[in-house]
Amino acid sequence: MEKYLSQLNEAQLAPTLQKDGPMIVIAGAGSGKTRVLTFRIAYLMSQGIDPFNILALTFTNKAAREMKGRIASIVGDSEAKNLWMGTFHSVFAKILRIESDRLGYPSNFTIYDTQDSDRLISSIIKEMGLDKDVYKYKQIRSRISSYKNSLITVKAYFNNPELMEADAAARRPRIGEIYQNYVERCFKAGAMDFDDLLLKTNELLTRFPDVLAKYQDRFRYILVDEYQDTNHSQYLIVRALADRFHNICVVGDDAQSIYAFRGANISNILNFQRDYDDVKVFRLEQNYRSTKNIVNAANSVIDKNQNKLDKIVWTANEEGPKIKVNRLMTDGDEGRYVASTIFEAKMQHQLQSQDFAVLYRTNAQSRAIEDALRKRDINYRIYGGLSFYQRKEIKDVLSYLRLILNPADEEALKRIINFPARGIGQTTLDRLVVAANAYDISIFDVIRRIDELDVKVNSGTRNKLKDFATMTESFQVMNANANAFELAEHVVKVTGLIREFKKDGTPEGIAKMENIEELLNGIKDFVEGQVEVADATASLSEFLEDVALATDLDSDKGDPNHVALMTIHLAKGLEFPHVFIVGMEEDLFPSAMSMNTRSELEEERRLFYVALTRAEKQAYLTYTLSRYRWGKLIDAEPSRFIEEIDEQYLDVITPLQEQRFNPMLDASIFGDIEPNKVRFAKPKSPKLQKKSNQKKAEPFKISTPKKLKPVTKSKGSSNLFDGKLAVGNIVNHQRFGRGEVLKIEGVGSDLKAEIKFKNGDTKKLLLRFAKLEIL
Ligand code: ATP
Ligand code: MG
Repeated sequence: MEKYLSQLNEAQLAPTLQKDGPMIVIAGAGSGKTRVLTFRIAYLMSQGIDPFNILALTFTNKAAREMKGRIASIVGDSEAKNLWMGTFHSVFAKILRIESDRLGYPSNFTIYDTQDSDRLISSIIKEMGLDKDVYKYKQIRSRISSYKNSLITVKAYFNNPELMEADAAARRPRIGEIYQNYVERCFKAGAMDFDDLLLKTNELLTRFPDVLAKYQDRFRYILVDEYQDTNHSQYLIVRALADRFHNICVVGDDAQSIYAFRGANISNILNFQRDYDDVKVFRLEQNYRSTKNIVNAANSVIDKNQNKLDKIVWTANEEGPKIKVNRLMTDGDEGRYVASTIFEAKMQHQLQSQDFAVLYRTNAQSRAIEDALRKRDINYRIYGGLSFYQRKEIKDVLSYLRLILNPADEEALKRIINFPARGIGQTTLDRLVVAANAYDISIFDVIRRIDELDVKVNSGTRNKLKDFATMTESFQVMNANANAFELAEHVVKVTGLIREFKKDGTPEGIAKMENIEELLNGIKDFVEGQVEVADATASLSEFLEDVALATDLDSDKGDPNHVALMTIHLAKGLEFPHVFIVGMEEDLFPSAMSMNTRSELEEERRLFYVALTRAEKQAYLTYTLSRYRWGKLIDAEPSRFIEEIDEQYLDVITPLQEQRFNPMLDASIFGDIEPNKVRFAKPKSPKLQKKSNQKKAEPFKISTPKKLKPVTKSKGSSNLFDGKLAVGNIVNHQRFGRGEVLKIEGVGSDLKAEIKFKNGDTKKLLLRFAKLEIL
């Protein structure tokens, strides 16, 4: 047997060695599903399967890259290079480019990101004279997106009275028209949005049997990770492609299905066995990721869901510490608690920033955490914010590049036609849009042919428009001979973009200039990595495609040693030694918007299961008593999910004094809440009614650190040793034993002491945490 296969247990070996036929691996978190998929690909290749015939679909591009790297280390780089591996979107964007003419698209079609779609929808709403408060562009976008993911085309929409009536009943009878205009405008601009990448792939495979046959023949082995989160459109693509050879292997966990709101369909996993004859079902039960406490706690939570497949998850790993539950006063305190816990853990256990992740339900929660980490000089990175490529100055440069490849690209043109300012105002642009619609040509064509067309612009503006067209065309000429880097460098100079930010002179302007430089470096790297691509246009278009589909998770910029901050949704499939799940409060997690039906609440619970199972060694849950939301301080109650964890796995440490990181707060705010008691408002029945205010008996055992002295009203715990501890004191530390104080430094909550312990070690300890007794 191949040597690498010894890194799998028996249950994992079975699906890895099952070469042919339809198969599904259903297994809980951390049981090695992704590992099986990776090793299975290496195994197929060792059995003589051409990597060119293998298609692996992952949830992120980063996951695909890592998987490819792993496979390359087993079978060698040159072999692994030919694998088709990536997200649905990136793999099918490539196929669509090859086959674009079938669908009437240029091969250089643009990929509109969410921002482009939003802008286009907003302008359509405006052009149609609709009230933007009734027709909210974001809502319309998500509506159009869900139509597309259910394969409801514009035609299908207008053939479906129920859909039309539903929109009319919601006082938005013109959604169908907006949808139609949006689709037409994208088509005219030679642009596909993210959902189109799937929808058009389906169209391609359905309308052109020869194309279908070609890709069925190519992708003889198909593998899909995180299968539970595929939507209908993705499901149909996979089914169509696998229809000839039936060599389809999907892995997933129904308990981790968390994208129903985006159209993912948990029934895909449940129906897999119905779709193919003779499906082999494999189960993995041993978790390799987490401690017993974490695995068991997660099991006890997911057990509360009714709609699930029964699964066993156990681990041979150590028992590990219990899950720490902490109550804080406010979100600010929560941030400070997280930061100081990380600070202390790093110091006392030789951990690195990268050993920690902070997960939250909503992006807005990151701010308080960020502030606190920054104050403590702890490196962090927020994932899932605006990606580098979505920053304004970067999108401006990219828009020029997009326009060079595809002059019909309406959103790119609108962004930069007057940036840097060249005297082409909004009124002119509006007229160009009207003309483009009337003549049914692109805006760029209107500009090019402005002398032949009836467009109301004065001669001065006309000349400016012509200059703009000439400049763009000169870039196109250059593109035929130069590589993407040379072209981009030329563009930022000639257009005056760099000058624009230099002129600005503010720190923001300088930061923007640096970002543009960084973009140019990125393009250079890309070009150098593409030496084999002889055709310059191909390299620019490939670069733009990479960029359009890049998510924030994909970029590996900056110091890798950082605390990761991200939403739980983004953390799927990842793992970290220490995980904080913050904001464990009713109406936040579970989200207020998901309490209406059991199935929504069950999705939130699955989300919590995903969050907990990211942790390898230690999980922390925090909740606050009040939190700033929508600009107001509102009362918060602990999440029902905390209470759903079997209490034997929890360590509830919330003596009131300890969590008061803000000494300015008056203790009277605590009102009637007694220290050392956790109050959990629990729904009265499993029927998901909102919580009552009933006082509950203490649900968990409370452990109070013994040596921590109570703090008086006006002082924070940071002052605990003020004026008392002095150099030369002999102290006793709970873990390290007796020692002598050599030095004291810092102020307030950062007060530290250097202590030489009796075993010879000298340690620097933060006094607010070090449980010291002066002897
Ligand atoms: P998730 O459901 O979160 O996506 P998963 O089922 O895909 O998890 P993996 O990420 O493949 O699980 O594995 C979890 C961790 O356990 C990884 O660090 C992996 O390297 C490790 N692991 C899996 N199988 C084994 C094994 N047989 N021996 C040692 N480590 C293993
Ligand atoms: Mg996985």
